[in-house]
Amino acid sequence: MKIELETKSYTEKANLYQILNKEELSKNDIVYLLSLNDKPDTEILFQHADEVRKKFCGDDIHLRGIIEFSNFCEADCVYCGLRKSNATLERYRISIDEIITTAKKIYSAGIRTIVLQSGEDPHYTKDDITKIIEAIKQNCDVAITLSLGERTFEEYDEWKQAGADRYLLKHETANLKIYSSLHSKQKLEERLNHIRYLKSIGFQTGSGNIIGLPKQTIEDIADDILLCKELDCDMCSFSPFIPSPETPFRDIPPAELSLTLKTMAVARIVLKNVHIPATTALSTLSPEGRKLGLQVGANVIMPNFTPDEYKDKYRIYANKKTYDPINYVKELKELISSMGRRVAEDKGHSLKI
Ligand code: SAM
Ligand code: SF4
Repeated sequence: MKIELETKSYTEKANLYQILNKEELSKNDIVYLLSLNDKPDTEILFQHADEVRKKFCGDDIHLRGIIEFSNFCEADCVYCGLRKSNATLERYRISIDEIITTAKKIYSAGIRTIVLQSGEDPHYTKDDITKIIEAIKQNCDVAITLSLGERTFEEYDEWKQAGADRYLLKHETANLKIYSSLHSKQKLEERLNHIRYLKSIGFQTGSGNIIGLPKQTIEDIADDILLCKELDCDMCSFSPFIPSPETPFRDIPPAELSLTLKTMAVARIVLKNVHIPATTALSTLSPEGRKLGLQVGANVIMPNFTPDEYKDKYRIYANKKTYDPINYVKELKELISSMGRRVAEDKGHSLKI
């Protein structure tokens, strides 16, 4: 009996190593890796993901300073606390001048990417965003990432012309049925068209999913990773679902930490030379989240520079971690060097160009 058990475990280990050594992973391989439950096996997976990260991205960790400049949103994504239907949320908009001042603070902190994020808020016109991009580019030698939801193709064209470098628009879930149930007005095909268009006009693009959505299966998560590959994204974010008490998903449990880490690790192995953040949602899920994420394939962290008076109101989900950004960056640098890694000094452009 003992021999049989040992033989079985030997066969499973051999299977795991065989998959990890493949150049291209099939959907079945990805499902197999995401389904690992045994601690020693997941440790092997995480270690391999870390080696792939080192080979394709090196030891640099890229910091992206984020400004959440408006929590108004025309969309109604069921999982998100900023959704239009959430009448309890106190809404804010940061003025163009304050956005530019905040961008300068990020630049002074030594960070070379500025992420401008908001709900889908048409109050900021095409020209407003252009003005912000141009002013930041004139004052700071930084890359700019936009994360404004779905806007028009004409707007994307103009913002690219104005100097924006990257656009982050997650596909959220590759499962058509789940996508439709979460977005009453938006279609998955439409979202993918936006991502493809952004790429076609020269934006470095970011996509990704939410892990732990109701009815989502391991196969769906495998499809999410494969979709990021097909979209040929430059950055991919895999963040755990965290419930917001102000949405219909208030009673849905948060994503499992282990599944989130396995997804990040497998994504690193499949996608190789993409930027993968250790997300704020991961830090909200676990106090060790940032470090764990960096150990399983992540190479990006996005410190939040949203001015104090607004940041509590950008309530995507409950208990979102807030902090003083300057202290946070200092603490981050200590953590990063204690892990034998270093903070990148450049803009951290796509690893594919
Ligand atoms: N409105 C823009 C958009 O949707 O692309 C940018 C802001 S939106 C708050 C940024 C991301 O938050 C979304 O892509 C989504 O994945 C994530 N998000 C929203 N609600 C979440 C939740 N409850 N748990 C985890 N992530 C969530
Ligand atoms: Fe709006 Fe983005 Fe939240 Fe959807 S995820 S409700 S688009 S802020």
